[in-house]
Amino acid sequence: MEQITLASGSSYFRSPGAATAAAMAALQIGKTYYGPTEGTEALRFAISKRYNKQDIELTPGQILITPGSKQALFNLFSVLLHDKDEVVIPTPAWFGFHELMKYSKGRIVTVDTKLTEDYALTPETLRASLTEHSRILLLSNPGNPTGKIYTKTELESLLEVTAEFPDLYIIADEIYDFVTYGKPFTPILSCERAKKERTIIVNGFSKSFAMSGWRIGYMAGSADLIKKCTDFQGSTFSGVSVFIQDAAVATLEHQENALATMLPILEANRQFMRQALDAIPHVAYFFPDGAYYFFPSFKYYLNTKTPEGMAITSTLDLCKYLQETYCLAVVPGDYFGAPDHVRMSFAVEKPKLEEAMQRLQEALSQLQR
Ligand code: PMP
Repeated sequence: MEQITLASGSSYFRSPGAATAAAMAALQIGKTYYGPTEGTEALRFAISKRYNKQDIELTPGQILITPGSKQALFNLFSVLLHDKDEVVIPTPAWFGFHELMKYSKGRIVTVDTKLTEDYALTPETLRASLTEHSRILLLSNPGNPTGKIYTKTELESLLEVTAEFPDLYIIADEIYDFVTYGKPFTPILSCERAKKERTIIVNGFSKSFAMSGWRIGYMAGSADLIKKCTDFQGSTFSGVSVFIQDAAVATLEHQENALATMLPILEANRQFMRQALDAIPHVAYFFPDGAYYFFPSFKYYLNTKTPEGMAITSTLDLCKYLQETYCLAVVPGDYFGAPDHVRMSFAVEKPKLEEAMQRLQEALSQLQR
């Protein structure tokens, strides 16, 4: 049986042709030297323009180009966190946040949100989890793995709460911001209540432009914080390769083409996965507003046995069974702090997606109580 994976965080799309052409042209004219640590003026200008169009005041000096948004987060954690600090993370959340915190000071405080409440984070719940030690509130918007997009009203009411905590930074990981399906997306810096010196956007090219292997991302925030993060990056990684930044500039110049190719396919796949999940009894899920994952609950299928007698007591067991018997890879919800769930990407070729959903349906139907 051919292996099929719905586990990857990368989509199957090719990177934009404009990106590849620009990188090759830059290499051919010898752009292989150290670039500025903060990023090229051209790319920082292009990114600031992108946000200016959304009525957000940002200058190139408020942007730092990083080797992926993961590194942007790591820069921020390294610069901002001290021993007793707390990083507050609405959960389910991307496991990468926990991995990064293994190498950072402070600790994570998770705030549970529920599928039955459409993963809403209420101001009351947020307020109850903030303390004098809270240093960062980390939002993933659109959410990985949930696909939830916070409305502007929701963000404003959360920011009303965070305003009571003057030492708190709000970091919004907006890496899926262009991967949306009709619901409006609000960048955190466009909120009226966002304090400019305490609010940071982290973003990148991996998801919206299928450029995960290029390693390019960025952060946008106050010039003062950007300077501190630039110093940290100068001492550790240095600047992102200039030919890769040229590719990113070209990507932004042609961004409508790239999105026009990708988004209709993702939307069709999203609808397909919804129908396929609806055909499986006892599965509950949130219909994602953004990103390219479903995160269904398979609780009903736990505490069962496979025909071979293997006990399925957790989604870790379930994922093992799907892999070993059906050559199907999905990610256990345990990794995201939501044990009964499974993350499944729909950013894969349609025939593979169809086959994967058939295998899933078949696998679950074989489980015995
Ligand atoms: N944040 C989130 C929410 C992600 O899902 C990912 C990738 N899986 C990243 C950050 C890392 O992205 P990058 O490739 O830009 O480092």
